[in-house]
Amino acid sequence: MAKKASTTKNTKNTSQDRTDIGKGNAEHLSSNSQYSESLLLDRLNHFFGFNKFKESQLQVIQSILDNKDVFVIMPTGGGKSLCYQLPALVSEGCAIIVSPLIALMKNQVDLIRSYSNHDSIAHFLNSSLNKTQEREVFDDLKSGKTKMLYVAPETLTKEDNVKFLKNTPISFFAVDEAHCISEWGHDFRPEFRKIKETFAKIHPNKAVIALTATATLKVQNDIIKNLELREPRIFVSSFNRPNLNYSIVPKVTKAQTIKSIAKYINQNKGKSGIIYTTNRKTTEELAEILQVNNIKAVAYHAGVDTKSRNERQDVFLNEDVQVIVATIAFGMGIDKPDIRFVIHYNISKSIENYYQETGRSGRDGLEGNCILYYSQKDINNIEFLLKDKSLTEREIALQLLQEMISYCETNACRRKYLLNYFGEKYEHENCGNCDNCLYPKERIEATKEAVVALNAIKALYEKFAAPYLVHFIAGNATSQIQMYRHDTHAKFGIGKNRDSNFWNSLIQQMLIAGLLEKNIEEYGIVKISEAGAAFAKNPTNFQITINTIFEEFNSLEEKDFLVEEETKGSALDDLLLQQLKDIRKQVATKNQLPPSIIFSENSLIEMATMYPTSMEELEKIQGISKGKGLRYGIKFVEHIKQYVEENDIEKPSDFTFKNVVSKNANKVTIIQSIDKKIPFINIAKSKEMNQKELIEELESIVNSGTKINIDYAIKEFADTDSVKEVFAYFKEQDNIDIDVAEKEFRDLDFTLEQIRLLKIKFISDFGN
Ligand code: ADP
Ligand code: ZN
Repeated sequence: MAKKASTTKNTKNTSQDRTDIGKGNAEHLSSNSQYSESLLLDRLNHFFGFNKFKESQLQVIQSILDNKDVFVIMPTGGGKSLCYQLPALVSEGCAIIVSPLIALMKNQVDLIRSYSNHDSIAHFLNSSLNKTQEREVFDDLKSGKTKMLYVAPETLTKEDNVKFLKNTPISFFAVDEAHCISEWGHDFRPEFRKIKETFAKIHPNKAVIALTATATLKVQNDIIKNLELREPRIFVSSFNRPNLNYSIVPKVTKAQTIKSIAKYINQNKGKSGIIYTTNRKTTEELAEILQVNNIKAVAYHAGVDTKSRNERQDVFLNEDVQVIVATIAFGMGIDKPDIRFVIHYNISKSIENYYQETGRSGRDGLEGNCILYYSQKDINNIEFLLKDKSLTEREIALQLLQEMISYCETNACRRKYLLNYFGEKYEHENCGNCDNCLYPKERIEATKEAVVALNAIKALYEKFAAPYLVHFIAGNATSQIQMYRHDTHAKFGIGKNRDSNFWNSLIQQMLIAGLLEKNIEEYGIVKISEAGAAFAKNPTNFQITINTIFEEFNSLEEKDFLVEEETKGSALDDLLLQQLKDIRKQVATKNQLPPSIIFSENSLIEMATMYPTSMEELEKIQGISKGKGLRYGIKFVEHIKQYVEENDIEKPSDFTFKNVVSKNANKVTIIQSIDKKIPFINIAKSKEMNQKELIEELESIVNSGTKINIDYAIKEFADTDSVKEVFAYFKEQDNIDIDVAEKEFRDLDFTLEQIRLLKIKFISDFGN
């Protein structure tokens, strides 16, 4: 596909310096090139076994072979590699391919070798090679057998390598992941800045091809400038992924979020998915909680050793696990076409990151659900982590983050927003598969206000970014506004009849509509486009939706969000509850145990609400472990089954998710520490808890049905006989009251905490 007309227009308007962008003129190339389509098709088939070119591949390949600089922007999976691999194979000399991803170089090389009958066809050169391996590479290069050399930027710039390559016949240079060159890209690598200089030293007149899967106009501009591409032909493929559904969900509480994620996964049994989080600890914690709830999940992050990482990747690819919970370390080069969902547990740092990560779903063109959980706290965390960065770095990062926040807050079409971010226009009003299009918010008339905004922007000489403009128009005299003395400007507060969120929504949607545009050179500065100027003279109907303010959600209590889910067809059945209590009494008497040790009141209430009629369902009731279920549950399940049949009861379809809060990572590590018989004092210390808090955690662990063996701690203060004595007492109680028990055993000199520990052991031994 040739470069989009809209992109051409966009780039022309935004900067005088961007003479290069927009010259991609692919239609005419195939006839002009000295390499005919039929010849290249023949080579394509010969080397790769494919029988037609994808997207702009043919034109890109012809351009390189004609020794023209080329810039390819194609989403992941579009077929970028072939754009340089094929010309490398048919050219004299060796192509130099610069890539930042050392880990992927070997894969790439292996892949090319698999198409050839000799290994010397492709090599890589990076810090992972030893001297002998390096020699081999150089020998093959000298002999002219090697057609492609993958090299890391810092290896390329080494003086010895430059000297050697100078005397080696080179076909052309390729820069993969070219966005790394720009500070405004999502993965800036300073060493990329030296690439051009090195190319010039090695061979100044060879064509350069730059490739990337994400680039805003700003980043495209940076790439062309930094690589000094000479009248490059630019090929931008569409970034639209029509099969992906986008939605943003407020993250209210952690427990609630995890619960809703688990529920989603359960409703999508058999479908693979990725959950992205920002830090290593969270990946482990989430994976653990999902495992506890019978979801096959593994964690993946850079802190896991290479062997385990590969293993975890493999079990995911082979579908031995359903979900991989990962940091952004996961995904590069992952080729699993049928990932059905990508969930962001935390907000991405930039839209580029988000686009790449969500882009891993639905690669086969079928369903891909992209759900992001949004919370102000996550944003604060990212901002906090930026505090040690240099000023420029921080400012850039904050602007990229701001774009991401706006994407989440908008109530306009998300697809439109994403594509606009990458400089592409999406023509449809309603994309049909983002949350905002599926559940449209009310649109309000804003024609007059759009003119007000345009006038204000003009009055400030188109020199400010959106947040500043919002404050200016809404009349908030921020310190920055005072600094510019704009609080005394005639137009200051010209729109104070509306709040900041209104003006923020309006400016964003004017940007999407193309009435405003962002300056490429000074990123973030909002300018009036030609269309905007025309609109100001002759306004046409303009409507907007107001952005969601997520803080409103954040301040709500968890229960506010639980209501809908918990009440759906599930009310407490008092009659059944009474019957279950009777059964509990019988079971308790038979076992000579207090009824509350058998099943807690909460467990019975949940049973009388959810009607578990199988052992599997029973285990989903809070406080009931597998062991406990097997031990005491059969009678209950049988009774409920009969009750449901006799009374013709329709069970709630929505089976409550196992109480995840009680099995959070803290508890998991406490249980593991107890298994290892680590002294309580040390466990408490490592968890930054006091003794009382640790005991509370232990109580909640055993109350939720988990068995733990704390004998090693009990031994410290009680002998077997006194334990027996206390247990005999416990067994006689209907309800064990710790204070009463403590008085009862004063003569044995137990502290309150010790009695509590004995109760924990009692519940664990007899109840769980
Ligand atoms: P990118 O680097 O853009 O993410 P790749 O170069 O890895 O994409 O290509 C994606 C997939 O498409 C690969 O499996 C590749 O073999 C395949 N592919 C590339 N070009 C063609 C083609 N012309 N016909 C069929 N398949 C192709
Ligand atoms: Zn939409």
